[in-house]
Amino acid sequence: MQEKRIKYIEFSDSLRSLKIYASAIKTFRKYRPEKSNSESGGILLGYVYNRYDEIIKATAPTCLDHRAPFSFIRSKIPAQRKINISWKKSKGCLIYLGEWHTHSEIDPTPSSTDIEMIEKTFKETKMEIDCLYLVIIGLNNTYWVGRKSSKGLVELTKIN
Ligand SMILES: [Zn+2]
Repeated sequence: MQEKRIKYIEFSDSLRSLKIYASAIKTFRKYRPEKSNSESGGILLGYVYNRYDEIIKATAPTCLDHRAPFSFIRSKIPAQRKINISWKKSKGCLIYLGEWHTHSEIDPTPSSTDIEMIEKTFKETKMEIDCLYLVIIGLNNTYWVGRKSSKGLVELTKIN
């Protein structure tokens, strides 16, 4: 099946929008839940602007991650290295924006473990921005996208 070529997909709430670029979607498609019995995941890297954020890169799973049919626990070590390298290469512009993983369900929703994980990451991570994104890739190219800030975790709606 021919997949439609897109530049980015955009999600938004009343406050701010998030553009996920094809370069990141490529990774989501490569590790889509149809392809594996275990969940896949990684980190999201991108740029921050006044009115929106952009996810440019999603990292692939590593052999140090814990992957199971209903769980994905990302190892901190390789991810931190990737964050540091991207940050250096881009002179501090390409930054850590959050986490992604797959679910073997259509129209995925975050599990209680996912919510705890993003809350914990938000508390513990030293960030350049005041929010973090959680992206879940479901079956049939469905997404759940949320923004975690001090106000809580808010679901964003796909707008294109
Ligand atoms: Zn999950």
